[in-house]
Amino acid sequence: MFDYLVVGAGFAGSVLAERLASQDGAKVLVVEKRPHIAGNAYDHYDDAGILVHKYGPHIFHCNSPEIFAYLSRFTEWRPYQHRVLASVDGQLVPIPINLDTVNCLYGLNLTSFQLEDFFASVAERRERIETSEDVVVSKVGRDLYNKFFRGYTRKQWGLDPSELDAQVTARIPTRTNRDDRYFTDRFQSMPLHGYTRMFERMLDHPNIKVMLNTDYREVEPFIPYREMIYTGPIDAYFDYRHGKLPYRSLEFAFETIDTPNYQPVGTVNYPNDYDYTRITEFKHLTGQEHPKTTIVYEYPRAEGDPYYPVPRAENTERYKRYQALAEVTPNVHFVGRLATYKYYNMDQVVAQALTIFERISTSRRLLTGPVSRNSPPAEVAATVTGAISSNGNGKSDATVP
Ligand code: FAD
Ligand code: UDP
Repeated sequence: MFDYLVVGAGFAGSVLAERLASQDGAKVLVVEKRPHIAGNAYDHYDDAGILVHKYGPHIFHCNSPEIFAYLSRFTEWRPYQHRVLASVDGQLVPIPINLDTVNCLYGLNLTSFQLEDFFASVAERRERIETSEDVVVSKVGRDLYNKFFRGYTRKQWGLDPSELDAQVTARIPTRTNRDDRYFTDRFQSMPLHGYTRMFERMLDHPNIKVMLNTDYREVEPFIPYREMIYTGPIDAYFDYRHGKLPYRSLEFAFETIDTPNYQPVGTVNYPNDYDYTRITEFKHLTGQEHPKTTIVYEYPRAEGDPYYPVPRAENTERYKRYQALAEVTPNVHFVGRLATYKYYNMDQVVAQALTIFERISTSRRLLTGPVSRNSPPAEVAATVTGAISSNGNGKSDATVP
């Protein structure tokens, strides 16, 4: 008899499995349909011996010391600050848009103060910021919007920015200084030995069994368990009863090149050219030294593995109908990016999973009395509610409340 059947071995499933096993002494079976753990954060060495991320570049960043401390139990880190250039008008310029971006593109020599005036002069007035177009044109005007956001977003989502919620492009700030980092979070690091190694250590507990290559539906009828943690797409759990929720997919094209370096930064975005959105060179992220290099192109797709919930009003409405079903489904906890249909980063999923662990653990304790714990996770619980509340920009808002 397992206490928990965990569906999915990504961040949501693995954090919960680890907490339930190590803190509550629960017996946990993790069932994962892919041939590996770590969900979309899975990394591995390719044929050339270069560490790559199978499902696209994953850069860890967060503001919460508690989330960072929690993951640090399972990995050491390599400090890494991600930088992205956009290929626009034949030049490679920083994105997020900053002082250098504008000066380079328009052949200007503005100061930060002058750039504020420049933005004010080109910004379009908006009564309310509702869409991803509103977010950008109200800050940097139509021309920069067209150069950096319109084409990229249409490729990435198959939708115009005016058809997407504000939160999508609000992930990308606008700067008047020369800071060219993609993220400005307090903690920005890569797991020193990769994500998969980190997950191996998370799941390495005598109470946790992992079953790969298995859709939970194949085994569920034969496995006695008390409660389920479900981290797959929520519409699939309910057999698409309220129709399909759109999830955006990607096709990844990897290429190993016989040269030590390919591009100047980790990622180069192509908002206006080509069918792919961006190229990432992994060695920037991992710090690996190797005579060759591997890059990945991302081609957005409507069909395929579900990677991104699509944030727009009609999808949120449909999700709410599934959420209502989830709330009246006893003994099943829906956790993670696919199961709660939220455009969450990794740290936000960890925060959500830790919050749900506290909830489950507390109600179990109320029912059965105190259980022995290896270490008090209260410091984690204290922060996670704040960590997953959105500040509107979708980036790590994992702050201590
Ligand atoms: P997942 O990782 O999707 O895990 C769910 C697991 O459930 C999957 O392994 C799936 O196979 C399994 N599953 C589903 N259905 C079943 C079933 N029926 N039976 C058994 N198993 C099932 N976040 C960042 O913080 N920084 C980044 O730089 C970053 N870059 C990203 C780049 C890309 C291209 C993508 C797609 C995402 C990126 N993210 C990034 C987001 C990050 O991937 C997610 O926040 C995180 O992986 C979500 O974890 P999860 O456990 O909710 O879901
Ligand atoms: N975006 C854009 N141009 C860029 C970078 C981002 O238009 O050069 C928009 C696009 O809609 C994208 C969103 O901002 O989907 C969020 O970008 P982010 O890099 O955070 O996406 P992710 O890493 O989640 O794929």
